[in-house]
Amino acid sequence: SVPSPQPAGAIRPIERASVHRICSGQVVLSLGTAVKELVENSLDAGATNIDIKLKDHGTELIEVSDNGSGVEEENFEGLTLKHYTSKIQDFSDLIHVETFGFRGEALSSLCALSDVTIFTCHKSAKVGTRLVFDHSGKITQKAPFPRQQGTTVSLQQLFYTLPVRHKEFQRNIKKEYAKMVQLLQAYCIVSKGVRINCTNQVGQGKKSCVISTAGSPSLRENIGAVFGQKQLQSLIPFVQLPPSEAVCEEYGLNPANMPQNLYSITGFISRCDHGLGRSTTDRQFFFINQRPCEPAKVVKIVNEVYHLHNKHQYPFVVLNIGVDSECVDINVTPDKRQILLQEEKFLLAILKTSLMEMFGSDVNKLNVNQRLLDIAGNLKKTLPEETEKPQAEMLSDSETENPSGEGKRIMALARLRKSFSLHQATESNFQSSKKVKQQHSSPRQRLLDTTGSTVKIQKTVLTKEAESCPKLDSKVSVPRRHLRKLEDAADSGFCSISESDAGCSTPEAGSCINSESAFNSEEELCSTEEQMEKECLKTSGCGKKSLDCDVQALGTEPKLGQVSDWTDQNKCSQEASSCSPRVKRFKSRNFKSEADDSKAGKYPEVKNTSVDVLVEVKKKTVPLEFSMKVLAERVKKLIQQQQKNTETENYRRFKAKISPGDNKVAEDELRKEISKDMFAKMEIIGQFNLGFIIAKLNSDLFIIDQHATDEKYNFEMLQQHTVLQGQKLIVPQNLNLTAVNETVLIENLEIFRKNGFDFVINENAPVTQRVKLVSLPTSKNWTFGPQDIDELIFMLSDCPGVMCRPSRVRQMFASRACRKSVMIGTALNVQEMRKLITHMGEIEHPWNCPHGRPTMRHIVSLDLIS
Ligand code: ADP
Ligand code: MG
Repeated sequence: SVPSPQPAGAIRPIERASVHRICSGQVVLSLGTAVKELVENSLDAGATNIDIKLKDHGTELIEVSDNGSGVEEENFEGLTLKHYTSKIQDFSDLIHVETFGFRGEALSSLCALSDVTIFTCHKSAKVGTRLVFDHSGKITQKAPFPRQQGTTVSLQQLFYTLPVRHKEFQRNIKKEYAKMVQLLQAYCIVSKGVRINCTNQVGQGKKSCVISTAGSPSLRENIGAVFGQKQLQSLIPFVQLPPSEAVCEEYGLNPANMPQNLYSITGFISRCDHGLGRSTTDRQFFFINQRPCEPAKVVKIVNEVYHLHNKHQYPFVVLNIGVDSECVDINVTPDKRQILLQEEKFLLAILKTSLMEMFGSDVNKLNVNQRLLDIAGNLKKTLPEETEKPQAEMLSDSETENPSGEGKRIMALARLRKSFSLHQATESNFQSSKKVKQQHSSPRQRLLDTTGSTVKIQKTVLTKEAESCPKLDSKVSVPRRHLRKLEDAADSGFCSISESDAGCSTPEAGSCINSESAFNSEEELCSTEEQMEKECLKTSGCGKKSLDCDVQALGTEPKLGQVSDWTDQNKCSQEASSCSPRVKRFKSRNFKSEADDSKAGKYPEVKNTSVDVLVEVKKKTVPLEFSMKVLAERVKKLIQQQQKNTETENYRRFKAKISPGDNKVAEDELRKEISKDMFAKMEIIGQFNLGFIIAKLNSDLFIIDQHATDEKYNFEMLQQHTVLQGQKLIVPQNLNLTAVNETVLIENLEIFRKNGFDFVINENAPVTQRVKLVSLPTSKNWTFGPQDIDELIFMLSDCPGVMCRPSRVRQMFASRACRKSVMIGTALNVQEMRKLITHMGEIEHPWNCPHGRPTMRHIVSLDLIS
């Protein structure tokens, strides 16, 4: 071909429009940022009334209207130009910036990412104007449009200019939505004297209230509007103290050099009596100079101190840190949520001292409604909310060292989920991502590596001492530790809260009455259906998994697909429509037959597999030349080849030693090398020391802990199939859920029911009052309550529809599983051993028991010996 006139390597500027499109996606990353930017603009414009209208959770339309200043005609052009702002002119202004925005990026980015229309009317204008923009931010239509003073920015089809992101966005919309609500809550709480109202409309359904505040001048009332009066009752105001000597020492601060009055902290936090905190970090809001942000270290210290006084819960937190604006840098990331702070240690020391005192002293017994009288004279100036009136404008900033908080959060949640839930992602699009996830070590492995006590347990595992269950206590702490990790890893309150707690205002807020669920009933219907299908798949458990494997093994080679057709030739004429029910039936049957896949299982499996593939194969119906002989040869060759492959790799496959330090490596190796179907192929050599099974696969010998493996299997079965018995309450109990949490609950009722929670739903009641608890799970020695519901909602808002269990149910199952499993010291016959090993092939993570004990290790490869 003709060589291009430009040498390929020449360095040239990217064409301007393209740069814009490339970079805009970094300014507006999510539904949350889009809404946040628009709300910030309205607040910056001095609005006292902000209405946010979403259609289909924001995928169709995001519209933010305000009664702010409006835009003057001469500024129309500049509105959407990159780095055009009315808020600062040069760098020095940045230091004292008091507006949320100052980078002039939001509107221009939103233009690049969606179809933007702006309606605005400045107070000097006689009539409003409607402006339509193209993706480069140029005005394409401009027409008079009557409206009151203020501005409405309307975004249609956010992200549609970035096709991959757009798909992801739609796929993850519920998560995005939950995060957006979380973000919005922060602005609702901090914006005094501003009425913020957000609604969502799904399809042609009724609008439902997402969040609504009444424009109160007090932080406290804003909190009440978002989270309800009940929440307020559990809070105490933050009382600031100068750092104590002990704390100064801890932080290496010299009390003599400490800046005076640098920080002024106000806000509210949960009292530390048990039961008054929350089971997750879902309601933690931090502000620096009224700017919502994620100051990682602040978040950490607050939670740490709280844990000292209430070990098992997390506080509700609203904290505003006022600081001189010269000591902060807000311009760290485009979303301005990471903030750098001078003298941060000093801040941490103040927080620690003050919180210790608040929780340690009687302050804790006072509630928000009471006035703090006299703890110490010098406290007075920073007393409760009433004194908290709009403070002299403060500055802003905090710091967050870890910009990848989001990634960590996702990892942490994934880990949390893995350990709490059934490990069965059932959405099809989930399946592939799950495979990737499996490459990571399981949560428990990490735990093993990091917790001394469990490591110790492990040391003894492969010895006789491991006989009993030495882990009752370590067990109890496991889930809690996960939660902590979640918090640590997440680095900040905002990060770690994935829960979508859209508070809707208290029932009095008339706007909420009559609004219905955020997701209309039609959608609910299909989501239940979907769910049922998922359940169905779930029941099929590993049966389905092995099926998938087979499909892959065979399916990758098209010829083999045809073979299956052929073996099933008579039935080939059946219509595809009849296939799926059959497959389903098969799936559940397959599950019931549990382990005996050895002989009988194989044939039907292949058959049904072919049915599964049929639809595709049928499309290319071509008369086929067929020879049984050729086919048999091919299959033989394939098998040989596979064998060769495994043989050649054999001696390198397992390298980890059997030692606690090598646990992670060992488990990674096993996970990589042993697929589910391989367990059934293992040959049982015998029992060792009445505690271990020695098994052989090809030339590898494995040792399997009979108790640990049985325990894990029993545990997984309990997790998946136990329907907890509920006990009816005498009086239905109100749950005080926020609007979004209520919706999460209603959408996942089945999962709650399986966990023994039942509710009455009154669709006509005001949002936040629709759900009443009527039944709680019961079990000897275990009591459950609303906190377990909160925890489930937290998990479900991240992975809607995926079966999960509250951590305490999980603990209960772990102890039940332990009790019913084969003990060390019990002699087993070959069948019993075979059963245990086959079971390993039927669960997701057979590599350690619920208490973290390893179940299986590679001993030696016989190839290496001979
Ligand atoms: P920034 O907020 O960083 O200045 P934006 O792109 O968000 O940048 O907005 C650009 C400009 O448009 C703002 O500086 C402001 O003058 C004007 N503007 C945006 N939204 C509104 C609004 N709701 N009311 C009045 N003016 C607005
Ligand atoms: Mg802005």
